[in-house]
Amino acid sequence: MSGPFSLPALPYAEDALAPVISAQTVGLHYGKHHKTYFDKLNGLVDGTDMADMSLEEVVLKSKDGGALQGVFNNAGQAWNHILYWEQFHAQGARTPSGKLAEMVERDFGSFDAMKEQFVNTAANVFGSGWAWLVLDGGKLSLMGTSNADNPLAHGKTALCGLDVWEHAYYLDYQNLRPKHCQAVLDGLVNWSYVGEKLEAAL
Ligand code: MN
Repeated sequence: MSGPFSLPALPYAEDALAPVISAQTVGLHYGKHHKTYFDKLNGLVDGTDMADMSLEEVVLKSKDGGALQGVFNNAGQAWNHILYWEQFHAQGARTPSGKLAEMVERDFGSFDAMKEQFVNTAANVFGSGWAWLVLDGGKLSLMGTSNADNPLAHGKTALCGLDVWEHAYYLDYQNLRPKHCQAVLDGLVNWSYVGEKLEAAL
């Protein structure tokens, strides 16, 4: 169905992230999973005041769950995956620079140490969820969230997000979630995009 919220176009071809993430995984993840979150959200907000809100406003309105848990699940996932696709570029910057590089060194010791902690955070999310690099009170930190939950709902700025739902990695990596996360951090995250998000939020 149509509705107030629409799935943004994928910023590249479905095979652009291979071999780190296969075209088949991107096709299903974007074309089925991400699209379905939008379709369900549009059905849930139809005829409510949320139909006139921004996606961010819907996430914040529904973050305490209760009768709006279904809205939060779909709005959160719709929002999470927009950042997820935007942060990747197969030819992007493979290391941070500028302010991001400074803050990674200050808050984690080194880029490699940050990536190691990021993978560990992702590995320790029990069940479906996300691991995030966030700006929180002027510092970089990592957080894991369950299901659709995200930094936005906790007053933090999401800079980079690893989807650790099995649909993100199972076709390509089976049960090897940490291997998938390490490959994404090493080979797909465009750290200049992450740096721009950071500088916009400081
Ligand atoms: Mn996903």
